[in-house]
Amino acid sequence: MRTLILSDIHANLTAFQAVLNAAGDVDQVWFLGDVVGYGPDPNECIELLRGQPNLQALMGNHDAALMDYISIDRFNYEAAEAIRVQAGLITQEGRDFLELLRLKLEIDDLTLAHGSPRNPIWEYILSAGTAKSNFDDFSTQGCLIGHTHVPSIFTLNQDNEVKILLPGNGDRWRPNNRFILNPGSVGQPRNFDPRAAFVIWDDEEDTYLFKRVPYDIESVVDRILHSGIPKRQATRLWNGT
Ligand code: ZN
Repeated sequence: MRTLILSDIHANLTAFQAVLNAAGDVDQVWFLGDVVGYGPDPNECIELLRGQPNLQALMGNHDAALMDYISIDRFNYEAAEAIRVQAGLITQEGRDFLELLRLKLEIDDLTLAHGSPRNPIWEYILSAGTAKSNFDDFSTQGCLIGHTHVPSIFTLNQDNEVKILLPGNGDRWRPNNRFILNPGSVGQPRNFDPRAAFVIWDDEEDTYLFKRVPYDIESVVDRILHSGIPKRQATRLWNGT
């Protein structure tokens, strides 16, 4: 069975469509949170996401802020502005979808959380130390996260040491220890590679394939600049920051 693992679409429909085209036929889709925030297409992305096969979907911090579940004051000005613009655009159907997103899920031997298993909405796992302190907060072999927008794997070996891997396009990885895995971001990649990121998990081979795919950034930049969302959310797409 092929599972498409996605995170941080951030209202970028063009990147999302490019990822779905590149992924091809999949049996199920797991989305790790933040379908809204930053980009120009919140309703279109929600509509496309909700139609994906056997969808499991989590709530991210931007989704929670748009729904007023958490305060917008915790975001920087340019991120908060994008949420304010989107709050004016979002349809009732969009709100109904966001309301049903889950904070954390356990599926077979995997835990899914947006930020971290310890603090699903806010914590960023970027360092070995933060990863290490999160292994006690889930009991499955692996944990899938998003939120940092950086494709990464943290493994915990028998000596209780955490190693970090930063997989590139086309890298295939097979777990043999406990791990925390981040597929990167569809709609706002941040590791200096502007291509949209995703992962395909093949459960028969137990391999995770990391992929990057180019998309028409210019069209998204153009829509952001005409939406009232701060310019910085457009220009950062060019260099993946
Ligand atoms: Zn995000």
